[in-house]
Amino acid sequence: EQLQSSPSTTPNDNKQLPPATVPGDRMNATFVTLARNSDVWEIAKSIRNVEDRFNRKFNYDWVFLNDDDFNDEFKSVTTALVSGKTRYGKIPKEHWSFPEFIDQDRAAKVRDEMKEKKIIYGDSISYRHMCRYESGFFFRHELMLEYEWYWRVEPSIELYCDIDYDTFKFMAENKKKYSFVLSLYEYVETIPTLWNAVKNFTKAYPEHVTEGNMMKFLSDDNGDSYNHCHFWSNFEIGNLNWLRSQAYIDYFESLDHAGGFFYERWGDAPVHSIAASLMLKKEEIHFFNDIAYYHVPFTHCPTGEKYRLDHKCHCNPKDNFDWNGYSCTARYYEVNGMEKPAGYEKEQ
Ligand code: GDP
Ligand code: MN
Repeated sequence: EQLQSSPSTTPNDNKQLPPATVPGDRMNATFVTLARNSDVWEIAKSIRNVEDRFNRKFNYDWVFLNDDDFNDEFKSVTTALVSGKTRYGKIPKEHWSFPEFIDQDRAAKVRDEMKEKKIIYGDSISYRHMCRYESGFFFRHELMLEYEWYWRVEPSIELYCDIDYDTFKFMAENKKKYSFVLSLYEYVETIPTLWNAVKNFTKAYPEHVTEGNMMKFLSDDNGDSYNHCHFWSNFEIGNLNWLRSQAYIDYFESLDHAGGFFYERWGDAPVHSIAASLMLKKEEIHFFNDIAYYHVPFTHCPTGEKYRLDHKCHCNPKDNFDWNGYSCTARYYEVNGMEKPAGYEKEQ
């Protein structure tokens, strides 16, 4: 019954969990997690964090996707923890396999070379399918088609401050389409020809490049070269209709045919970030300074003591990555003409 019901737009009322404490309508939104059965206890921790700090007040749904069938343990543990409806989807084989245009020998050779060079996940086939799936398919999974907004959650993450407002409603009311909490430089070894592929795309589809975009976040020379800045995509709150737009689909198809998901090891983080920075207006990308977050090995702990105390934060401000030289968040502030939060120098 629970698995087949349609997305909820009102707070959950049939769970033995704390009832939603925030009254009013809900957005057409869901959490989404890609996971294996073996991730159950690590995703359980993430869910507990998200529920305690946010979702127990709102009861949003949670969609779980897997290239395999979820087992009963995974389903019962996660359903017990989520205060909204839970739904479990299997990824169709066509979305998790090598496209026919990929040369298997060439792809295998690359994996050997990357293993030699000790590039993280360099020899992994499944990691490549995962990155390609997150880049081009999760938002068109049958279960996701019913929603307009998503919040991506991975295993083993932490949230450190209370979130007392509806982040999905915030996105809609402020005309945001994509968001982040951590930004950094990508390992160039994993994406040597990604920017070339992006340039081929923008040449073929100039109509998809939006005026007033955030190119300056990506490039210091007007698009000639990529500076490797990207938003970390293990956290995302975003608009699914944007990802399902012709512009984004043309972009993904174009990159996919370039082959770099298999001939290199393109991550979904730079793929999403470049899309957002070229195809959205810069005002449509939001930095959630107030969502305190950890995914190994980086922490975003909001700058500003008053905020942290008011929201019962339990992160150490010394761990905040934002003003570290390897973060691109200062650049994000600069290209948007935003003033950095008071006290940021002390947390550098
Ligand atoms: P990292 O954060 O880049 O180190 O990568 P993760 O191991 O956290 O993987 C990213 C996301 O994809 C997580 O939500 C994983 O649970 C999920 N994931 C990774 N590989 C697979 C896989 O082979 N199958 C499934 N179903 N999920 C996967
Ligand atoms: Mn992860």
